[in-house]
Amino acid sequence: MDRKGILLVVSGFSGAGKGTLMKELVSRYDNYALSISATTRSPREGEVDGREYFFRTKEEFEQMIADEALIEHACYVGNYYGTPRAYVEEQLALGRDVILEIEIQGALQIKKRFPDTLLLFVSTPDAETLKNRLIGRGTESLDVVEKRLSRASEEAEGIENYDYFIINDDLDTCVTQVHQIIQGEHSRVSRN
Ligand code: 5GP
Repeated sequence: MDRKGILLVVSGFSGAGKGTLMKELVSRYDNYALSISATTRSPREGEVDGREYFFRTKEEFEQMIADEALIEHACYVGNYYGTPRAYVEEQLALGRDVILEIEIQGALQIKKRFPDTLLLFVSTPDAETLKNRLIGRGTESLDVVEKRLSRASEEAEGIENYDYFIINDDLDTCVTQVHQIIQGEHSRVSRN
C-alpha cells in the first residue's frame, strides 16, 4: 500500500518554541518536510531569505494571492503570511509528511480545504514563561511583544478546533511526542 503523506499544522503562541521544535523534528527524522512560508515582515537578525521565510514586499505577496500560489494566507500583527502551494503538493505526492508552522486563521483555512489535516497547538507551561521568552529573545520591540501577547490570548479561544494540545517545557520530550502523534496517525484505519 502506498504511504500517503500527512499534512500537519502546528500553531502556538509566538514564543512557545514551535520553530525550534519543528526544526529539531525535521533534523531528527527522515520523512518530514517543513514548508517555508512567504511573509511581508522584515527579516530578523540572522534570518535568510528562502530559509526561514521567503521575504516579499506587499505587492509581491498580493500577486502571489492573485496567482493562487498560496494555499492559505493570513494577516498577523500587521504583516501577511502565507503557505506556497507548490512545495506542499509536491512533497505530499512523494508521500512525505508536510509540516506547516502557521497561525490559527491559516490553520482553519487548511483544515477546511484538507479535512484530514492534523492540527496541533503548542503552548508554554504558563503565560509568564511565554512573556519572558518573547522578551528574552529580544527580536521585537516591547510594543510588538505586547501586540503578540494580546494576539496570543485571542488565539487561545480557538484551541478547541485543534486535534492535539502540547506543552513545550522540554524540547526532547516534545519532539518525541509530536513524532509519535504523527506515526499514530499513519496507523489509523479510518478517521470518523
Ligand atoms: P513570526 O513573525 O514570529 O515568524 O510569525 C508570526 C506568526 O505567523 C506565527 O504564529 C507563525 O506561526 C505564523 N505564520 C508563519 N508562517 C505562516 C503562514 O504561511 N501562514 C499563516 N497563516 N501563518 C504563518
